[in-house]
Amino acid sequence: MVSMAAPRVDLKLRVIGPVVLLGPPGAGQGPQAKEMAARYGIPQISTGHILPHHRDRGTELGKRAQAIMERGELVPDQLLFDVVACRLVQADCCRGFILDGFPRTTPQAEWLDSWLAKNLAQGTPALVVVRFAVAYNELLRRLSGRRSCPACGRIFNVYFQPPRVADACDVDGTKLVTRKDDAEAVVAERLKTYERQTLPLVEYYRQRGRLREIDGDRAVGQVMADVFAAVEHGRL
Ligand code: AMP
Repeated sequence: MVSMAAPRVDLKLRVIGPVVLLGPPGAGQGPQAKEMAARYGIPQISTGHILPHHRDRGTELGKRAQAIMERGELVPDQLLFDVVACRLVQADCCRGFILDGFPRTTPQAEWLDSWLAKNLAQGTPALVVVRFAVAYNELLRRLSGRRSCPACGRIFNVYFQPPRVADACDVDGTKLVTRKDDAEAVVAERLKTYERQTLPLVEYYRQRGRLREIDGDRAVGQVMADVFAAVEHGRL
């Protein structure tokens, strides 16, 4: 296991290479990606953040993606490739990057493989895909229990981290809201979409020797230590 204390080698100078975090919505890839980005000094690239950002800015892509996202379905592959390609060539990706929420379909994984084959500098460590496995009922509770404060952005969970007063933010008392795609019916649809369209990627990456599997049903710190070990094993 890799120590989570400050690393002896300066990880922020090393070439980490491409990392994909693969798991169902609610498995915790987002927070894990954030920790990794801080540890390695490479960017977290989350399509689940980029798309809402386009929606909020009213871009053509955002308009086309909005209704699809609200139904818990996947945005068509072709809409995403340009967005992801533009992001991956930015200067901050030169030592590596963490993809969170992409790829989610076999065509997206094939597209990424061919992008990496054409664009990765020689000697860059090969892609590592970290898979988070979490039980279905746990995911349902993590997602459908999530509430956020529209004023300060603080996140609560009615099952695991309830506010002191029901439905009110602990910080400013604002009434908490449920994200449209965290409504229970939409969550069930997002999980079904994952099983149908994204789960086949586990086999895709296993066959190519890229997969590292992690039990995501444990405390955040334990999961994180395993993620660091998976990324650093044999390359640092
Ligand atoms: P997330 O919060 O990561 O589950 O993403 C929110 C929504 O954005 C998803 O339900 C999809 O509609 C869309 N989305 C994010 N990433 C992708 C992707 N790689 N392929 C297709 N749609 C995506």
